[in-house]
Amino acid sequence: MLTELVLAPSDPLTYAPALVPDEKEISQRTLAVHGGEPRTYPYDALVAPITQTATYSFADTAELIAYFEGRKDREEYGRYGNPSVRLVEEKLAALEDTEDAAAFASGMAAMTSTILALVKSGSHVILFADCYRRTRQFVTTFLDRFGVSNTLIPPADVGALRAAIRPETRLVIAEAPTNPYQTVPDLEQLAEICRAKKVKTLIDSTFATPVNFRPANFGIDIVVHSATKYLAGHNDVLGGVVAGKAGIVSLVRDLRSVFGACLDPHAAYLVHRGIKTLALRVEQQNASAQALAQRLEQHPRVRRVWYPGLPSHPNHETAKRLMTGFGGVVTFEVDADLDGTSRVVDACRIPRIAPSLGGVESLIEQPALMSYFELSTEEREAIGIRNNLIRYAVGIEDTGELIADLVAALDRTA
Ligand SMILES: *Cc1c(COP(=O)(O)O)cnc(C)c1O
Repeated sequence: MLTELVLAPSDPLTYAPALVPDEKEISQRTLAVHGGEPRTYPYDALVAPITQTATYSFADTAELIAYFEGRKDREEYGRYGNPSVRLVEEKLAALEDTEDAAAFASGMAAMTSTILALVKSGSHVILFADCYRRTRQFVTTFLDRFGVSNTLIPPADVGALRAAIRPETRLVIAEAPTNPYQTVPDLEQLAEICRAKKVKTLIDSTFATPVNFRPANFGIDIVVHSATKYLAGHNDVLGGVVAGKAGIVSLVRDLRSVFGACLDPHAAYLVHRGIKTLALRVEQQNASAQALAQRLEQHPRVRRVWYPGLPSHPNHETAKRLMTGFGGVVTFEVDADLDGTSRVVDACRIPRIAPSLGGVESLIEQPALMSYFELSTEEREAIGIRNNLIRYAVGIEDTGELIADLVAALDRTA
């Protein structure tokens, strides 16, 4: 079956997918490499070309008319579509097991365009309080100005969701796992509650990746990714993707044509190439993070570890049921104050100090200083960001060496 599909002929000019995801036996590893790609490209190139063009020419007026009458499927102008971008979309749709996907210039461009495509003045949006900070800012301060109201519900509290739904609720936004405490709400239950009330569900699945979790298979309507993180995976490009049913993706794509936050063809090439190794990288990152989390739990200077792969995590059972891997981010609290915690960060020799995650390089940061610098200790405590918190986003370096480096940093600064 797999051989048949891989060898299926396809038209290189329309970039028809050769591998379709509804064949359940095809693994994410194989889909990452071949999913959504034609068997050949122009000039028999094995690898997808970068179609670097701002616009597209028509052979004659008859072709132009045929295109506008819908009799001819082709590109028209760069803001409306590009074959290099289309390849990213096809691959993501294959990996997420959705009908379609649309790519954007960044994760936030994908998120804001999607939300705007689904709400109007008078709508109500529900989101979990621990969702990505800029998403929360967009909904609570920006959308609020345009008459779209919102309710923030406590992290992972699906019961609170039931109570928060109103007749005008259009959209529920969730993430799994979240930052920095790695909460995993019961998204299957969430999807069920929302479907009964005809409310759309949007999951920011950046931390999980389609290797660990495919929200569409649990009844979630829309999946958004910051492709900047695991999908592209090399800390060298910004991008975003929205995946879901064709009708919703089409609405979002229409809005992209208006807002113009398109993924550049060169960036699309980097994202597309990055995704080819997604499964290998994420499997390695899952394994390293699990081992690092377990080792940290044994360390006398570590007060608490937050990783959904640990039985000590409050959402461990939910994560086990929904996900096939627990991700590459480990959050932990050191037995130290703000400065003592900074000393641990500074003493690490392998991870680099930087925001972001999901790339081949391990990154380390103190949320109190990186994302919440402008707040006082008291204000941080109020939203659950402690001064002694460290977020470690593992890369693909050797697991044993990453652990030894962090343990040495903890020991040296004791
Ligand atoms: C980074 C990130 C975003 C934003 O993505 P950009 O590509 O930086 O715009 C959104 N959600 C999550 C969970 C992220 O980690």
